[in-house]
Amino acid sequence: MKKKNENLKETAMQTNEQEFRQIEQFLTERDDFLVVSHVQPDGDAVSSTLAVGWLLSCLGKNYMMVNEGPIPRRMSYLWHSEQIVDLSETPLQSKYKNVICVDCADFKRVGKSHLIFTDDAQIVNIDHHPTNDAYGAINLIVSNAAATVEILFDLIQFMNKPLDHDVATALYTGLLTDTGGFRYSSTSPKVMAIASRLLEYGVDGPGLSEKLLEQMTLPQLRLLTKALNGLQISEDGKISWVTVDDEDMRLTGAIHEDLEGIVNYPRNIQGVEVGLLFKVINENAVKVSLRSAGKVDVARVAQSFGGGGHIRAAGARIEGTLDEIVLRVLEQVKAQL
Ligand code: 5GP
Ligand code: MN
Repeated sequence: MKKKNENLKETAMQTNEQEFRQIEQFLTERDDFLVVSHVQPDGDAVSSTLAVGWLLSCLGKNYMMVNEGPIPRRMSYLWHSEQIVDLSETPLQSKYKNVICVDCADFKRVGKSHLIFTDDAQIVNIDHHPTNDAYGAINLIVSNAAATVEILFDLIQFMNKPLDHDVATALYTGLLTDTGGFRYSSTSPKVMAIASRLLEYGVDGPGLSEKLLEQMTLPQLRLLTKALNGLQISEDGKISWVTVDDEDMRLTGAIHEDLEGIVNYPRNIQGVEVGLLFKVINENAVKVSLRSAGKVDVARVAQSFGGGGHIRAAGARIEGTLDEIVLRVLEQVKAQL
């Protein structure tokens, strides 16, 4: 009899076998790749970028990994994370035809990285967001995967590349962060089976949880305190939200990655169905993060504002002033309740 986790692996691969084959062919037959992920990358985005880079290095290929902006400082332990070029700091002159986009639900999410795609670029789109609009020439979209790294784990298996500690740490990081520490409903038996395999490669599970989910910088804690001081809740107690603007960032000395996790606090209040974080980007744009306790499909709400995501976690960048956007988003959420 086969071991149970082998069965789990095979089921996932069978459903997307054609895409796995196409991607294997794309990677082995071509050379000079660009690997990109979404703006303001999270653990899954960074780890997926690195896992694709690792796979390409196994194949002896030339590749460049880029992001529109910086990689979160707390992820600097990841293998080759310093090689991900921050385009806001280091603009690149060359353009790439062979592009692999990971964890990006739509083309807009790659941000300014698209400026180094050739006009005739061939895009491989590997993602787990159900709102993904299949913008690639090859689309490997597995919406029941907890993280894009879960799909990449399968791809690495499919291509028969033996894992090592470096890539195992990256894959584990993506799983850990996208499942909120193996707690969200996306934490399937398969996720746990993969995590178990990765731990066998010596991944420091508790150390990564401490670093990524527990530890806070002082500016981060000050920002959280400030945001929570302004927490609001709807009369029926079902929607709660916090806002963060430039002044909050300046006064606390916080940086963008310090916003991570704040939205969980309004969401975690008993009785709250939807928690929201409104982050002012500039005078006329706000990023909203939406989290659902399960009843409301926040991906739908985000999509109605041009964003996307998952049923329980979604986001959008919306044009307008903070006050105006808070009202519009609350109205949409109320309509879904
Ligand atoms: P967060 O609120 O933590 O930035 O993102 C929550 C989820 O929504 C993530 O899966 C993220 O990829 C997705 N998401 C966030 N912002 C956007 C956006 O502007 N467009 C799309 N399509 N997805 C987003
Ligand atoms: Mn993800």
